Amino acid sequence: MTSPHDMGVAELGRALDARALSSRELTQHLLARVDTRSSLGAFLHVDAEAALAAAAEADARRAAGEAGALLGVPLAHKDIFVTADAPTTAGSQMLAGYRSPFDATVVARLKAAGTVSLGKLNCDEFAMGSANENSAFGPVRNPWDPARVPGGSSGGSAAAVAARLVPAATGTDTGGSIRQPASFTGTTGIKPTYGVCSRYGMIAFASSLDQAGPIARSAEDCALLLSAMSGFDERDATSAQRPPQDFHAQMLAARPGASAARPLEGLRIGLPREFFPAGLAADVAGIVRAALAELETLGATLVDVSLPRTELSIPVYYIIAPAEASSNLSRFDGVKFGHRAAQYADLLDMYKRTRAEGFGPEVKRRIMIGTYVLSHGYYDAYYLQAQKLRRMIADDFQAAFAGCDLIAGPVAPSVAWKLGEQGDDPVKAYLADIFTLPASLAGLPGMSLPAGFGEHGMPVGLQLIGNYFAEGALLHAAHAFQQATDWHQRSPQ
Ligand code: GLN
Repeated sequence: MTSPHDMGVAELGRALDARALSSRELTQHLLARVDTRSSLGAFLHVDAEAALAAAAEADARRAAGEAGALLGVPLAHKDIFVTADAPTTAGSQMLAGYRSPFDATVVARLKAAGTVSLGKLNCDEFAMGSANENSAFGPVRNPWDPARVPGGSSGGSAAAVAARLVPAATGTDTGGSIRQPASFTGTTGIKPTYGVCSRYGMIAFASSLDQAGPIARSAEDCALLLSAMSGFDERDATSAQRPPQDFHAQMLAARPGASAARPLEGLRIGLPREFFPAGLAADVAGIVRAALAELETLGATLVDVSLPRTELSIPVYYIIAPAEASSNLSRFDGVKFGHRAAQYADLLDMYKRTRAEGFGPEVKRRIMIGTYVLSHGYYDAYYLQAQKLRRMIADDFQAAFAGCDLIAGPVAPSVAWKLGEQGDDPVKAYLADIFTLPASLAGLPGMSLPAGFGEHGMPVGLQLIGNYFAEGALLHAAHAFQQATDWHQRSPQ
């Protein structure tokens, strides 16, 4: 039998169903693995006792005749989701020791489906970053090479899944934070259409962009998780009003005219020429091209499209996201929750000291940029202009989708870089977000799937972007690719 930590979500569900193992045994096994791999820095909090109790409960539910693909399946949550049973930090000193009185909707739904949470996963402070180096609680290491970053901001989620500590994890993606770490760690991640997953209880970074999604080892496992985590929630005013979706069934649905050998027959995949610039690393370009050739073999047709404002998505995002962050993070003032300075003269001094002590440098930088672009006299020049361009970027996608069903390209311009390599130049990291920001600004679903190994033996992901609510089509294409390739099954030593 395969070792339990090498099994994915779907496979574990079947093994639990067949009573080949119990959730308690599985949970125990993974907890021991988490323990021996703590040098990765993936977990910020492990609660073995609670996990074992939840596993025993799942076993009892199964014994009583209950079924469910996720019943008894272990996972862990990005520490940006609030949880009643475990502390929540958002990777920030500001929330050290904070405990939420309630569970985020995504957490509650996965719990109701019977998943067993092993704990909370490291991330960039308030999800601001691309390397997990902005966490107040230390970096996360890439299981493929501990000297390299796992990507961010869902770096702990991606590293934990890649290192086989958990079969799946939750993540959030504001400008690429699910897709880019998935690409950097050889895992599969999907950011659904804005509004598919509830943002209730997800600590807000940039509310008009934030979306939750799963990181797992396959499109199939992502489909199972997304079905459980998504759905309308009246507590989130931007939640999409739709009936519950069975993404797994959508993933399996055959295309008209398809055959076993050509499951993607008739699928038009658009390649934006702006996604293949001269500056794209040769290894990444080669791997993406090879993956596209594979999709062609599976029946897809490749067509040229254009997303002319791709480059502008960087300044647009880095105006809108900090603007929203500066507003969202004003709640951390030392009064209602989290850190409060020990010594202060008066109320204003208390605010100042609390925020100076609680926030890390990148968060402070974004609050200052955001406050600046929203300030009187600059608002029209920056924020308003960025909003107009955001609309045009979304329109560009609709023009592209007139000629194709899905869009494909790289996730990131290079493989994972070394810890500390970017020094203190934040703009370097911002520029590397170029291929994930456009779909975020448009609110479109996007995914990253393992497509090969580039320089230094590091994983490289292929990005697929769908039109609004086309998660089913995305997962279908990704699943077909994974049935024909085994990149997603490789694991680090
Ligand atoms: N790297 C981007 C940023 O730093 C995206 C982060 C995210 O998606 N949470 O803002």
